[in-house]
Amino acid sequence: MRNNFDVIVVGGGHAGCEAALAAARMGRATLLITANFDTVAQLSCNPAIGGLAKGQLVREIDALGGEMAKVTDMTGIQYRMLNTSKGPAVRSLRAQADKKQYQFLMKERLEAQDNLFIRQDMAESLCIENKRAVGVIGKNKIKYLGNAVIITTGTFLNGLIHCGTSQIPGGRAGEPASMELSGSLRGLNLEIGRLKTGTPARINSKSVDFSALEPQYGDETPLPFSFTTNKIDRPQVPCYITHTNKKTHDVIKANLDKYPLFTGQIKGVGARYCPSIEDKVFRFPEKDSHQVFLEPEGLNTMEMYCNGVSTSAPPEMQEEMLRTIKGLENVEITRYGYAIEYDFAPPTQIKPSLETKIVENLFLAGQINGTSGYEEAAAQGIMAGINACLKIENSDPFILDRSEAYIGVLIDDLVTKGTSEPYRMFTSRAEYRLLLRHDNADRRLMKYGYKFGLISQQQWDALNEKEDKIKEVRQYLESKTTANNSLAKILRRPDSKFEDILEMDESLKGFNISESAQEQVEIEVKYEGYIARQRAQIEKFMKMENFAIPDWIDFESIPEMRIEARQKLTAVNPLSLGQASRISGVSPADIAILMLYIEGKARRAERKPE
Ligand SMILES: Cc1cc2nc3c(=O)[nH]c(=O)nc-3n(C[C@H](O)[C@H](O)[C@H](O)COP(=O)(O)OP(=O)(O)OC[C@H]3O[C@@H](n4cnc5c(N)ncnc54)[C@H](O)[C@@H]3O)c2cc1C
Repeated sequence: MRNNFDVIVVGGGHAGCEAALAAARMGRATLLITANFDTVAQLSCNPAIGGLAKGQLVREIDALGGEMAKVTDMTGIQYRMLNTSKGPAVRSLRAQADKKQYQFLMKERLEAQDNLFIRQDMAESLCIENKRAVGVIGKNKIKYLGNAVIITTGTFLNGLIHCGTSQIPGGRAGEPASMELSGSLRGLNLEIGRLKTGTPARINSKSVDFSALEPQYGDETPLPFSFTTNKIDRPQVPCYITHTNKKTHDVIKANLDKYPLFTGQIKGVGARYCPSIEDKVFRFPEKDSHQVFLEPEGLNTMEMYCNGVSTSAPPEMQEEMLRTIKGLENVEITRYGYAIEYDFAPPTQIKPSLETKIVENLFLAGQINGTSGYEEAAAQGIMAGINACLKIENSDPFILDRSEAYIGVLIDDLVTKGTSEPYRMFTSRAEYRLLLRHDNADRRLMKYGYKFGLISQQQWDALNEKEDKIKEVRQYLESKTTANNSLAKILRRPDSKFEDILEMDESLKGFNISESAQEQVEIEVKYEGYIARQRAQIEKFMKMENFAIPDWIDFESIPEMRIEARQKLTAVNPLSLGQASRISGVSPADIAILMLYIEGKARRAERKPE
């Protein structure tokens, strides 16, 4: 059997699938080693893709040539555009996915991919030569050799599952933990930390009284996630809304001493923004109700996910608690909720290419970098896959900056600031969110996907045609006047829409402009002033980003700089002045000193005689 590859990806979760597909599509012989081939791309927690800011990430992955959006469109069972009453900067798409179909379709995509080899095995250690990753050793002592290794092990490293007082090693419910690999990473002098996340119970829908509940339907005409999908024509199903109440909270309050979160049993840090129900009741005692969404897990299953009541309570208490909720009086739990603690590698140890600073050609992506969420993982996965290929061919790394993609914001935040709790994406993390919209991800990023061979010629041609059309129509709107007003001015009015001016002007119809191009024209015209302002800010930002910090720099030898700043800069080793300015503990004064120091050194070097 073949045991020598260009790229080895460890772990077939959301990061691993995108990494493996990208590397194989870039022509590299790629091996995906995963502990269980039947559970690749498992939606470990809620059966949904996208959501606020996450929807933007999915669109960006798609524009780069990734798979997540396409598989969602083939398996989505409810689509909703969120924040439609707000501006385009914060609108995001969210889709419920059929959990099993999603997973199996991704498995099929992996199997069908040229250059991609798959082995079901548990990686136990890394092979390192001269501080460079050269392979992986599996459970059966098989040695897989590769020029680059990408680790995407999610919640599996030393995973410990908590449900009441029981603590069982596991990577997620029903799957064994990876017990050896984090020791191997520690052996390379990588720092390893501990985080925690949790999930609610799954219930059988036949035990739910739906007549008492409010259904929540998806959008009538679902907008697909992928730029390659024309239409969603799968059956769409509703979710149901219910609420916790005083009785629910009393059950929890009466038993706080039995929750591993409060007994000291759980030590890892959880995400503040995604608290368990016991945490919500404890932290917000004044609230006597929390919303609960019952979300179907698929079309061919009766299981439902109880969104909003994540818990690690003892099993019998989970049932008691759920049965206080309207519609769930006779509920039957199929799988208990639980919390999981796992090892992660604090991400200031990786470069913006996701390669570790300590070991060359070793890349980390996904939850192992301290993130939480399928989309955050997949985004890092595709970037790691591309960068592993670029590294092998000695090309410059592919780094997206904060002004061009949420992916850029995500990775920059991780490698510059690190994280002490599971990191998830929010629109508020992006400074230039009016430009980083979900609707224009193709216009921002497809050029890169095309350059790396991940976007087809046909898709690229279609994008160029769309760009031409947008330009033509914009020019026309500026030049054509009706009742002393240009059509652009009329469109700029708060209540007017592109369809309105299409009705007003017959020749506009002749442009035959697609709906997605219409949307671009409408947003560009309406928000022209704001967009121009944001572009001006980006110009300033880019000056700092383009001010490269040379390799030779030794921050410790800049005497004028404060000790804390020297230490922080040495730890992160930023690539640019811009990145340096975002490190916590580095002040604007430190940046000014650093700039003067680099410029001074450069001037002295120029003056030196040959
Ligand atoms: C209980 C629980 C609750 C969660 N709650 C939330 C939430 O509320 N919100 C949210 O956004 N996200 C949540 N998540 C996280 C979400 O599942 C992850 O963020 C996402 O799946 C991470 O993707 P990944 O690719 O990094 O890893 P994963 O999806 O975890 O995939 C890791 C893969 O690596 C494989 N693997 C691991 N170790 C090895 C090894 N040594 N050798 C070979 N293969 C290996 C595993 O089999 C698996 O296929 C939760 C996860 C769990 C388990």
